[in-house]
Amino acid sequence: MEIFINLAYIVASVLFIFGIKMLSSADTARRGNQISAIGMLLAVVVTLLNNGLDFTWIIAGLILGAAIGGILAKRVQMTGMPELVALFNGFGGLSSLLVGWAEYAKDPTFGSAENPIFTGSAVVFAILVGGITFTGSLIAYLKLSGKMGGSATVFPGQKILNALVFLALIVCGVIFVMNPVSSWAIYAVIGLALTLGILGVIPIGGGDMPVVISFLNSFSGIAASAAGFVILNNVLIVAGCLVGASGIVLTVIMCKAMNRTLGNVLFGGFGAAGGKAQEVEGEMKPLSTQDAFYVLEAAQSVVFVPGYGMAVAQAQHAVKELGEILEQNGAEVRYAIHPVAGRMPGHMNVLLAEADVPYEQLCEMDDVNPTMETVDVAIVIGANDVVNPAALEDENSPIYGMPIINVHQARTVFALKRGQGAGFSGLVNTLFFRENTRMIYGDAKATMTDLVGQFKG
Ligand code: NDP
Repeated sequence: MEIFINLAYIVASVLFIFGIKMLSSADTARRGNQISAIGMLLAVVVTLLNNGLDFTWIIAGLILGAAIGGILAKRVQMTGMPELVALFNGFGGLSSLLVGWAEYAKDPTFGSAENPIFTGSAVVFAILVGGITFTGSLIAYLKLSGKMGGSATVFPGQKILNALVFLALIVCGVIFVMNPVSSWAIYAVIGLALTLGILGVIPIGGGDMPVVISFLNSFSGIAASAAGFVILNNVLIVAGCLVGASGIVLTVIMCKAMNRTLGNVLFGGFGAAGGKAQEVEGEMKPLSTQDAFYVLEAAQSVVFVPGYGMAVAQAQHAVKELGEILEQNGAEVRYAIHPVAGRMPGHMNVLLAEADVPYEQLCEMDDVNPTMETVDVAIVIGANDVVNPAALEDENSPIYGMPIINVHQARTVFALKRGQGAGFSGLVNTLFFRENTRMIYGDAKATMTDLVGQFKG
């Protein structure tokens, strides 16, 4: 039976790996997701074949978890997905913490383990990483959902305090491993890990949140892997490593997109309130959709730049319809995607894929920027931070150095937004005051539908 279980785990792991590989293209992503899900189903079913499992608790957990997860996923708005993902990361961390704690509660001396020091270390590691992931993700959830201010919270001596908490965590962990009956040490590790999660994420804010989300995602994988070592479950170790490794790759990509180092993101206190950005001169010039229609009718090259506002308005289908009309009208149409647009990695790609926008029309920032001066109209749909020229021009701006989509270099810019609202970082956007920018106020979907209507006559 053990050989059969391990063979099934290998098949499940191979399915995970192929599934992840298929996520790299929009054409195969859906099937990749299904293949990974089949792998997970196989892993779960086979795990149930282990001798001596108490099915009462498993079934109770299954019903409760499926009900809560089902309701949450059904109710969540597309714009609330990032918060939900943050919560899921956090719960992943919490389960690893509980697995470690339960293993300790079952046998505080690890007397039945082959190697008590190894098991004790795995328990400490699962609790440490799980605890940090749990509270860190809760803070990220509160920041993303606006229940807590999105800017960084910094105070004097913060880094020293964090370093001391980390040191205390390691010391208590070592004491516990050396002498597992010292129960105070394991409870200290739990308390300190939960505290460090909070302390570690509150100084990160503003535009750095995407990096934190993917970093915590990676942490939830590492925590799961540690839990796998605690209960000696191979598939949990493999699945956790896959999440941990892919999360780290994504974190590095996100850091590059923000032009930051990971150390700078985690310890830089970026986005703290009180940065003194440049005063903005000029005024915002509104434009009616009818006048916008005349400009678009004559345009030969149009670039759509979607941002978080497109997700709020659910404007992607109307955007695609306008794109098709412009193409039929003879214009070259492209969609420029900034890596951190929206509120989660790949947010804009998901929305545009849902609307069946052809993959070939999606352009990455580095490909579209060199051509921006030849673009007749750049249509900014609810994007703000990712097109803020202050990131290039204002050394005092908190987002200085972050690469942006250079829409300000296009001949004309249409900025679609509801009013004077700031972007996620809370900064004023100098783009909206430029000579070549026209503001088209209103909900992005209503504006897009109106423009489509103008073309259809
Ligand atoms: P921003 O959050 O900077 O701006 C969104 C804009 O959309 C606002 O200015 C708002 O203005 C407008 N808007 C909101 N609702 C509507 C609507 N219904 N119709 C039209 N406009 C609307 O978005 P960006 O995508 O430019 O930037 C993303 C930001 O989020 C970056 O700072 C990034 O670092 C951060 N972030 C990204 C994550 C990721 O993984 N991608 C995760 C966490 C944070 P108004 O209110 O006036 O309408």
